[in-house]
Amino acid sequence: MRIRVLGASGGELCGHGSTSFLLDERVVLDAGALTSRLRLAELDRLDHVLLSHAHLDHVKDLPLLADLLAGRRRRPLVVHASPGAVATLRSSLFNGRLWPDFTRIPSARRPLVRFASFRHGVPFRVGAFRVAPVRVSHAVESTGFVVRRGTACFAISGDTGPTTAFWREARRAQGLRALLVEVSFPGRMQRIADRAGHLTPRTLPGELAKLERDDVPVYLYHLKPAFRAELREEIGGLGLRGVKILEDGDEIET
Ligand SMILES: [Zn+2]
Ligand SMILES: [Zn+2]
Repeated sequence: MRIRVLGASGGELCGHGSTSFLLDERVVLDAGALTSRLRLAELDRLDHVLLSHAHLDHVKDLPLLADLLAGRRRRPLVVHASPGAVATLRSSLFNGRLWPDFTRIPSARRPLVRFASFRHGVPFRVGAFRVAPVRVSHAVESTGFVVRRGTACFAISGDTGPTTAFWREARRAQGLRALLVEVSFPGRMQRIADRAGHLTPRTLPGELAKLERDDVPVYLYHLKPAFRAELREEIGGLGLRGVKILEDGDEIET
């Protein structure tokens, strides 16, 4: 499996795309950097968007993607999200006011976008992948995933503060070859991070220790672009082995 990092950040700034990982040509995880990163032919090939949650830095390109694909697709683009995230997208984004309701365009029977709800703890298929969704600890309903195709397997934390079930699921995952973990704010902003449900370099080491092994490569993502230099320094000072900060354009081989 080769994961292509379209956007590695927890926000957007020139040179730093918001969270988006292309898993293969048909499946993307989070939609923070799609329409600015992929060509039309690549967007046409997408069939599935898997969402960690419905915060804007993870869904912001969905409405623009739907608009671009209008008149170009026969099958709906399937957006997989937790029930709370689907409810937010329906009421607050594709609501016919902020943006057209593409789940009823061009018709309710053959829409451009279809929402598929998953339930935490119940594995499901997304294209060629088998996905185990785990509830994590964030300001809104948020999900971490263990994603598998054949023998290749990786885990991604989603937006989360310190959490438990995700690490249990990652520990149990056979053949885990990569771990993608969020870290958002520098340690001096710990209170804000705790309130919002994010990790800092202060809380990160304790979370990584919950994996109970250090032979899995760790890729950090969701750094807030405005604090990137400060975060780099703090993370470097932790002296963690096998840990890399992801950049847009990176590829992860699993
Ligand atoms: Zn986020
Ligand atoms: Zn979030």
